[in-house]
Amino acid sequence: MRIARFTTGDSPRYGILEDGSTDIVVLKGDPLFMPVNATGERVDLDSVRLLSPVIPRSKVVGVGRNYAAHAAEMGNEVPELPLLFLKPNTAVTGPDDPIVVPDYADEVEHEAELAVVVSRMAKNVPADKAADYVLGYTVANDVTARAAQRADVTWTRGKAFDTSCPTGPFLSVGLDVSDLAVRAWVDGELRQDGRTSQMVHTVPELLAYASTIFTLLPGDIILTGTPAGVGPVRPGQRVEVEVEGIGRFGNNVVKR
Ligand code: MG
Repeated sequence: MRIARFTTGDSPRYGILEDGSTDIVVLKGDPLFMPVNATGERVDLDSVRLLSPVIPRSKVVGVGRNYAAHAAEMGNEVPELPLLFLKPNTAVTGPDDPIVVPDYADEVEHEAELAVVVSRMAKNVPADKAADYVLGYTVANDVTARAAQRADVTWTRGKAFDTSCPTGPFLSVGLDVSDLAVRAWVDGELRQDGRTSQMVHTVPELLAYASTIFTLLPGDIILTGTPAGVGPVRPGQRVEVEVEGIGRFGNNVVKR
């Protein structure tokens, strides 16, 4: 089952998209915070504008160098413990929203990633219980201002700017994410083509580790790292990202 957050011109609404259907079953309220309850209305997927499936109340947790081939292409070792960073919720944007390159960044790079959406408060959760805290999965682009990331000790300028976390197109519930394709395209050319089975630290390990540092709240997003093949996407170009079984979406890159 996939959940869509969408607009038809008014306030965002939520709906369920059953496998193989192009009809969105509209829900009452936000399924993150209330029981799933249909309004009786259906809308055609083609008639709506999809939005980011979730806007975190507090944070997006990122993880660096979680695919060995990507760490190697950047000239880095794989860290023994997950290398975590934060993006604020203002970084999150949706399908077809522009990625706005900050003035200080000459270019940005794409990073296609599987993203985990947290279902309930999590603190000091053991890895073997982590699945109980996962609402579902979506697709994210961990857009990175690479030169700023290299220049600074922290990754805040490089990773946390507004629009640096396009997310979509759906929230997939009940998906087995142990071996899914993760891909990115720039102007239709395939740039990244990895698999989630290549992660160094698994989804349960990442959630458990993050929860030893801070409390995860409902709607928080955990990024899981990017496979090899990252590279620049320039103003005027379009970048698309996909995780098998969830969906594919794109964003145009613009200069502020
Ligand atoms: Mg990343």
